[in-house]
Amino acid sequence: MEDNRLVSLIISVYNEEQGIEQFYSVTKEIVEKIEGYSFEFVFVNDGSADKSQELIDGFKGSDRVSLKRIEFSRNFGHEAAMCAGLDYASGDYLIFMDADLQHPPALIPKILGKFSEGAECISMVRTKNETAGLIKNITSSLFYGLINKLSVMKLEPGASDFFAISKRPAEVLRNNYREKIRFMRGFVQNIGFNKAIIEYEAAKRVAGESHYSLKKLWRLSMDTIVCFSDIPLKAGTFASVISALIGFILIIYTLFTRQGAPSGYATIVIVLCFMFAVLFLLLGIIGQYIAVIYNEMKDRPIYILKDIR
Ligand code: UDP
Ligand code: MG
Repeated sequence: MEDNRLVSLIISVYNEEQGIEQFYSVTKEIVEKIEGYSFEFVFVNDGSADKSQELIDGFKGSDRVSLKRIEFSRNFGHEAAMCAGLDYASGDYLIFMDADLQHPPALIPKILGKFSEGAECISMVRTKNETAGLIKNITSSLFYGLINKLSVMKLEPGASDFFAISKRPAEVLRNNYREKIRFMRGFVQNIGFNKAIIEYEAAKRVAGESHYSLKKLWRLSMDTIVCFSDIPLKAGTFASVISALIGFILIIYTLFTRQGAPSGYATIVIVLCFMFAVLFLLLGIIGQYIAVIYNEMKDRPIYILKDIR
């Protein structure tokens, strides 16, 4: 292994004024002790409305620690922030982390160890998420179950937005994965290369609140399913086969029982309501996919930079 490789730490920041200083001082102290590597902190300020940018501007590097500060024109979301970090990072290794110390920087040496063993895409998998609470944990496992059923793409349950990639996969993601509706950790697990998994325990946020409400997570899950699977889109075919079968059985039944017109009313209402429910569900599913196509078609930027220095 050549000496002095550059490691980029990509940190998405949205209103983290309460914890960002602690994040930087703790992480910087850890990386400065790691021999044989230089480090580049790439802070992506995703349109914070608080003092985050001011604090980041005040951070000082050292001989082995440099800084890159990217500022968005407004809030574009965590996925966009990671994308910008990917675009501007110049490291041989890229490590994506939260700014709230939930992703323990103490694991950086272990990540670098995996890289030197030949790993190229490293997923960090949570064994326990103390902060998430029961509902988030249940919905999360439901989501992973569903996406793994529906999609050819496989997702490690518990994989987080804490992951690391080397130069080659970074190049692929940078050049070929420019989708507007994004799910980076899903891409990382499905572009091949030498994979590795490191388990970790998610810590509590040092300060502030999670930005992911259940509503946001629902939207994220729907987008992810739509982006990674086309099975729901084909549900209409199954529904039509089933309704044709039901129709066929009803025709035979009606003919053989010679059911008089007035007595069939209840059956007609029930069948009609049921059929309309299925029809609207299918329409909704198609709508979800059209929304994604619509977004891709418009081809607006994933993020807009206000400043980079
Ligand atoms: N974040 C971001 N843009 C957003 C929301 C969040 O860049 O619109 C950042 C946030 O500052 C944090 C990371 O993304 O560093 C993960 O967010 P958070 O900690 O709120 O999510 P959780 O860890 O609870 O899933
Ligand atoms: Mg967090």
